[in-house]
Amino acid sequence: MTNPLSDLPQIQSLLSQPLIAALASRYSHAETVEALRGVIDALRKALLNGHEGTLPEFEGQAFAAEIEARIEAARTPSLRPVINATGIIIHTNLGRARLAPQALAQMQAVASGASTLEYNLETGKRGSRHDHVEALICELTGAEAAVVVNNCAAAVMLSLVATASGRTVVASRGELVEIGGAFRLPDVIAQSGAVLREVGTTNKTRLSDYEGAIDAETAVLLKSHTSNFRIVGFTAAPDRRDLARLAQERGVILMEDLGSGVLIDLAPFGLVDEPVVSDILKAGVDLVMFSGDKLLGGPQAGIIAGRADIVAALRSHPLMRAVRIDKLSLAALEATLRLYRPPHDPLQDVPVLRALFEPIEMVRARAARLIEELRPLGLRVAEAEDCAAYVGGGTLPGQDLPSVAVAVAHGTLSAEALAARLRHAATPVIGRIERQRVLLDMRTVSDDELPRVAAALREIAAG
Ligand SMILES: *Cc1c(COP(=O)(O)O)cnc(C)c1O
Repeated sequence: MTNPLSDLPQIQSLLSQPLIAALASRYSHAETVEALRGVIDALRKALLNGHEGTLPEFEGQAFAAEIEARIEAARTPSLRPVINATGIIIHTNLGRARLAPQALAQMQAVASGASTLEYNLETGKRGSRHDHVEALICELTGAEAAVVVNNCAAAVMLSLVATASGRTVVASRGELVEIGGAFRLPDVIAQSGAVLREVGTTNKTRLSDYEGAIDAETAVLLKSHTSNFRIVGFTAAPDRRDLARLAQERGVILMEDLGSGVLIDLAPFGLVDEPVVSDILKAGVDLVMFSGDKLLGGPQAGIIAGRADIVAALRSHPLMRAVRIDKLSLAALEATLRLYRPPHDPLQDVPVLRALFEPIEMVRARAARLIEELRPLGLRVAEAEDCAAYVGGGTLPGQDLPSVAVAVAHGTLSAEALAARLRHAATPVIGRIERQRVLLDMRTVSDDELPRVAAALREIAAG
């Protein structure tokens, strides 16, 4: 019996085949060799692992097509756009907030050349990157001072390190939240060098609990938004005003990790439970932290706003350099914040807010347009279905938004196979599976993405 390993062809001989040589000239020699080597190496590994069977054909159209597909795959960026048809508006795994065109334009403008990142045009001298958005944040939140870092987790960490390292932080047992796996408030407090002093119970914490826990070692009373969970039933938490008074009397800092942090009151639009940053500060909280890419609708960033003396201490803390915001995010953040002031209307101009509050008739009309496009394809199912969309991003759990999905089923592919094919479309489309159909939620798909969703389904239907 011959050793099948010795039957594996040489790369050089494969390169001399006309179809492969054509690929080498169309793409490049190096990429073609890399793809050929990938195929041969995979076969060699399979044979060495005892895998038996006949070797595939190393010539002809099918082989060339496989090599071409490998070359194309190697050229495709790993981090790339997809279409979010999940119905989860701030989808943590799909890049959270979609940016406004103004934010994209500002990033492009700042990134394609030199900028005023740390340059003061008035004096011609060094400036601070923190100056670009501080006034805007103060205007929009009523804060005395503000500073921005890489993300909200960094904002919490920096704030604790700078104010409570080596001392104690008092927090309610009902607010010791875990967000997205790695961010667990008790661990963050421990990492900051502070000692956590838990008070109250899971459902009820009273002012007297905080009061009794404050001693000479206490630096901070930390409140945290329970973002991704909710405790219902018999619950109690002290009013922020009372907590603020207590903190002031005892000379400790009252801090609140808001997670999402909204700049405008969304209650009139049906989203209750999400405290407005300016209200929190008005109630007397000394320092708040919130994300740039949750309900704010901007880039990844952590915004810290509140008392000027604390913000000054954060600005000059050695950890600041390690968590500072980069110029692209800063450009996008400034542009996004400007959408919250005249002449703009954030409900229209911030894509996250627009998606949240888009009237259901418009979502339904988008579903109808897609179904019209799909009609000639002969899919087994392509129909509109009322469903619920969600805010996502660990924000407002349990509050669903009315939405409409296009439910799709293929004649022969299972729902799982159809979903997988959609994930491998030119622009991948991510939906969810329900009752053997793929649901494409139209609240999270924008008008200009619709043709690409249709194109992906057209390609799949064509076989
Ligand atoms: C989301 C969240 C964070 C983390 O924010 P990132 O911007 O993802 O770092 C921290 N705290 C709370 C309460 C959150 O909801």
